[in-house]
Amino acid sequence: MMAQYLALKAEAQDCLLFYRMGDFFELFFEDAKIASATLDIALTARGEHDGERIPMCGVPVHAMDGYLARLIKAGHRVAIANQTETPEEAKKRGGSKALVARAIIRVVTAGTLTEESLLDSRTANWCAAIGEVGGMAAIACADISTGRFEVIETDPARIAAEIARLSPAETIAAESSEVAELATALRPRGEFDSARGEARLKQLFGVATLDAFGQFSRAALAAAGGLVAYLDHTAKGSLPFLRPPRVSRTEASMAIDAATRESLELTVSAAGTRRGSLLDSVDRTVTGAGARLLGSDIAAPLMDRNMVEARLDLVQRFHDDAGLRDMVRGQLRALPDIGRAIGRIAAGRGSPRDLGQLRDGLDGAWRLGERLMKLEASPPLLSELAPQLQGHGALVDLLSRALVPEPPVDADKGGYIAEAYDAALDDLRDAGAGGRRVIAALEAEYRQRTGIAALKIRHNGVLGYHIEVPAKAADALMQRDSGFTHRQTLAGGVRFNAPELHDAAVKVTQAGAHALAAEAAHLEELTTAALDTREAIARTADALARIDVAAGLAERAAEGGWARPTLVDHSCFEIEGGRHPVVEDAVAKSGGRFVANDCMLSETSRLWLVTGPNMGGKSTFLRQNALIAVLAQAGSYVPAARATLGMIDRLFSRVGASDNLARGRSTFMVEMVETAAILAQATPRSFVILDEVGRGTSTYDGLAIAWAVVEAIHEDNRCRCLFATHYHELTRLAERCDALTLHHVRAREWKGELVLLHEVAEGPADRSYGLAVARLAGLPPITIKRAKAVLDKLEAGRQKTGGIAAGLDDLPLFAAAAEAEEEAIDTLRAELDMLDIDSLSPRDALDALYRLKGLA
Ligand code: ADP
Repeated sequence: MMAQYLALKAEAQDCLLFYRMGDFFELFFEDAKIASATLDIALTARGEHDGERIPMCGVPVHAMDGYLARLIKAGHRVAIANQTETPEEAKKRGGSKALVARAIIRVVTAGTLTEESLLDSRTANWCAAIGEVGGMAAIACADISTGRFEVIETDPARIAAEIARLSPAETIAAESSEVAELATALRPRGEFDSARGEARLKQLFGVATLDAFGQFSRAALAAAGGLVAYLDHTAKGSLPFLRPPRVSRTEASMAIDAATRESLELTVSAAGTRRGSLLDSVDRTVTGAGARLLGSDIAAPLMDRNMVEARLDLVQRFHDDAGLRDMVRGQLRALPDIGRAIGRIAAGRGSPRDLGQLRDGLDGAWRLGERLMKLEASPPLLSELAPQLQGHGALVDLLSRALVPEPPVDADKGGYIAEAYDAALDDLRDAGAGGRRVIAALEAEYRQRTGIAALKIRHNGVLGYHIEVPAKAADALMQRDSGFTHRQTLAGGVRFNAPELHDAAVKVTQAGAHALAAEAAHLEELTTAALDTREAIARTADALARIDVAAGLAERAAEGGWARPTLVDHSCFEIEGGRHPVVEDAVAKSGGRFVANDCMLSETSRLWLVTGPNMGGKSTFLRQNALIAVLAQAGSYVPAARATLGMIDRLFSRVGASDNLARGRSTFMVEMVETAAILAQATPRSFVILDEVGRGTSTYDGLAIAWAVVEAIHEDNRCRCLFATHYHELTRLAERCDALTLHHVRAREWKGELVLLHEVAEGPADRSYGLAVARLAGLPPITIKRAKAVLDKLEAGRQKTGGIAAGLDDLPLFAAAAEAEEEAIDTLRAELDMLDIDSLSPRDALDALYRLKGLA
């Protein structure tokens, strides 16, 4: 057995091996130690290997899902080795001592789950593969719980951002590839070969060319091929359901890098949960599929204005008609998750209940489609979606006739095929029931015949039907001619059989076995019927999800008094009465009132410098505007009274180092790396928010960096930008940068108390209020007093010298500085050109070097 185990373990590689033994999956050696620690189950030992006891632990087969979930969550992968023959078969094959054959039937990893109990119904579960060929890159990803399969063409610089958007449960890449550090698992290079990938895809979808699915680059073929090879590997040949791939390019969506997603808490809050994120605060969907789609919409705001408008038209239809919205949401709420049900069925792990879910879900979809198709003033997107809800009449009809109202998860015990579906099955059931009635009648008869009132007919797995009497009454039945045959003596009773009972029991058992077989055959037919239309079922599931998302967004908009944004092509950003949905909720919960603020960026005022006291509302203001941009391009209403914005190609959000201490790295370094990325990537169509950049270092360094960054953004990137800072000195930039305007969050001291008004007003803040905030925070009065004394001294010093920003006004403009730099380089180059190195004496060469050094 150990030899067999070790061979399987070698095959399982980095996975924990679940080795089936009877009713348990056992783990041995290191695996056992890891599993017992993770699962908190007993570690025992068994036999010996190389003279040492073998550590072992086990989990019961029937409770496997829960244990698997915990191991996967803890980051492990599990290979499942099952018995591939019965002990009887093994004996027949190799004699009484033969070992039952076992094989790995499946590798369970975070990205390849389909079990309902292991998945979160409201998030997609992506398994992603990164392909790179000749400087091009692509990501292929599949959610095998629903069969969604997407291929995203991108350039190598955007891979990390795309992976952040998808946030896959698992990411794979080729061994020793450049993107290996983004992957959770590495696979052989050969599996990422583009020619091999193309062949496999054609074979998988039974097509001669992939053109119908879109244009595939070699990188896309490599990624898709690598992904399919991996899924083949984990499913051991029985590949789960994959829909034909949808190819897209990253340019189709707003570029948002990982740091920006994190800082804006788009789909995950800073605490790592869905709660507290933007997604959570807008999500009013009523189905799991709707919630999953909303998550991907928010993670990937669109760049195509027409597509955004189409989504907005649909939201508006539901927004303006509360009756319609309630009807749609009411119907959707009752629907089971058909996308995941068909996913499980296709993966070969479907149950009768999944078929029941399909029946109910498709039937409900059909009825919703009926009502939506009759709708007046239907927006184009809805006219496109409504027909997709229908067309499953034959399947629904079949399933309705075939299945009982509430089919069980477990098919083993039967009882899921409805009465009157199959006359032969009904007869078998009648025969079984008749037999059971006969047996019940026999009990009464035997009691009378023997005079033993306590006589009972029982059933168990070993003896089948048998008669049981108390030990003290057993003697009479033991007689030869009693008509009863002794079977078993227990402490409390004695068990017998009898010819009439035997005959009746055989009938019952046979009828039962035949009925089970008949049901299983029907289950197979029904499953095949469902799988035949799986692509259409998946489309219906998609249409339902899209409708749920739109109705949910309409609900949210109505609830919060949100407005439909107007999208335009020129680069403006005009928000009236904007709000931050998450902070607004929090403020309202603590009994406060959120103050709405305008943000009016235009060609002549595209960079706002926002100053004001800490806790004054600067970050909130910056973020709310970024969130409004995300929501608008995702096709949602926005938390504002009115909003007009020009399409944004890239969104950046950076928060100064000290706000971000939770990260392990040198925070100032991170801040600078991220700021560098903005300066390199932001275009005139981008939107950037920078919060206290430069704070992570000394005052002089920080001010200098912040100053230079603002200038560069203003002169070079020319994007729309909100820049919050506590460096009051930066306000001097208003005089030199014509599209930069000054703003502040208002505060007032009233009877010695600081009042933060959270209101954004024009002009610079009049003072910093640092000490007032410190008092508000509860710093002891004596400390405040001392700080005040120090401050007075510092301010006196500043008055004398002009402060740390003295002399900054004399600095040449950013453009002029850059120009001077260029000129110096030109001169240097001209000097170098003039040198005739071959004719120089060593002495002359040294002189020339000194001269050049002087120029640089
Ligand atoms: P700053 O960035 O200026 O330090 P924040 O934006 O972090 O300030 O805001 C601090 C707190 O003030 C928030 O947590 C919130 O409770 C409150 N706040 C911010 N903006 C508003 C607003 N517009 N209306 C009401 N309360 C607000």
